[in-house]
Amino acid sequence: MKIERVEARAIPDTRGKPTVEVTLHALCIPGMHKEATASEVGGHPVSTHASVPSGKSTGSHEACELRDADGGVETAVANVEGEIARALCARKWNSPDEIDGALIALDGTPNKSRLGANAILAVSIAAQRLFAQEANVPLWKAIAERAGTTPGAPRLYVNVMNGGVHADFRLPFQEYILVCEGRTSAAFAAARAAFDALGATLGNVPMGEEGGYSPTFETLQEPFELLAALVAEHAGTSIAIDAAANELLSEGAYRLLAETYAPDALMRLYEDLASRFPFHSIEDPFSEDAGADFARLTAALRGTCLVVGDDFTVTNPARIAHAAREEAISAVLIKPNQIGSVKEAIEAVEATHAAGWAAICSHRSGETDDTFIADFAYGVGAEGIKAGGLGQKQRLEKYERLLEIEKEAEAV
Ligand code: PEP
Ligand code: MG
Repeated sequence: MKIERVEARAIPDTRGKPTVEVTLHALCIPGMHKEATASEVGGHPVSTHASVPSGKSTGSHEACELRDADGGVETAVANVEGEIARALCARKWNSPDEIDGALIALDGTPNKSRLGANAILAVSIAAQRLFAQEANVPLWKAIAERAGTTPGAPRLYVNVMNGGVHADFRLPFQEYILVCEGRTSAAFAAARAAFDALGATLGNVPMGEEGGYSPTFETLQEPFELLAALVAEHAGTSIAIDAAANELLSEGAYRLLAETYAPDALMRLYEDLASRFPFHSIEDPFSEDAGADFARLTAALRGTCLVVGDDFTVTNPARIAHAAREEAISAVLIKPNQIGSVKEAIEAVEATHAAGWAAICSHRSGETDDTFIADFAYGVGAEGIKAGGLGQKQRLEKYERLLEIEKEAEAV
């Protein structure tokens, strides 16, 4: 692979905030000899794009999303077109891992704060696409070969009601999710029917930032009663939440509606909800450094419901390995932009699977049209994918890509 030109630009995400988009222009030669130039062996030109999402309820241990003082990404864009472009065009590349390794070394910081995780990940994804095109295989298949995983359809974690920092704290948990299992086409049909039925029940309510409804309720129970009714009506579905508890924490206790919960009281609330409603998983039930509380809840809910780390583990293989030693959780959210390269996101999946845990791949609340996360989730054989509600184009595109993959996988 010979990369000839690198372009980058700022594009708006779903919140209208700038994020990084990259285009790589290369000459691809399947089986290219390291010493031959691409033109000598008749390489064909290929261009790929990638853009990166951006979180709002971010964990403090995430890799650094480089932002200018005014919130822009011009420095990150300049880093791609300057230092990164020079390194990419200086030599030939034999694998996407080689490129990611070079980008990580070039940055040289533990959290990608010099060049920016947003700059590096956009290049890393576009590079993965180049190698898939060179091998003439679908992106999910190239990812599966790179990761050594068995590809397969993830459960769809559809965020039907958006609360917390993504909408309104009068719906206190950040995400009320309907988990839909089975073949993607069947799971998506159930999600569509349930989403529309919920819309009809709720009537005219605002939409949240992740394309789900954002109603408000007087009690903590009401949204779960609505979700349980959907589960009863739609086979192969269950309930999940992302409590995003970092956002609820104030002076050592968690604020839900007008009540304040000490960690023990919040633990009892989760146990009560999971015993009364058909729960599949609870994400970030406590704040990002409350490992002992995570471990107690995981033990209490073992066999009943998964406990998922997001801000707690931040797609960081070392944090996941530490959580494994503490038996703190039973599933891990995988968000490539929390760690900043495809290579390390794959290592995070490996650490998750090594612990015997489920990997759930996830979009961010600020999204773009890029559907990489769908191919990644399918390629690594993830247990699930979080891609938001069905009321926003950029969320639907991820589900549509999974439907396309279902067809591609049948044809391969
Ligand atoms: C999440 O917390 O799981 C999430 C998708 O939201 P954000 O991107 O704001 O972190
Ligand atoms: Mg989360």
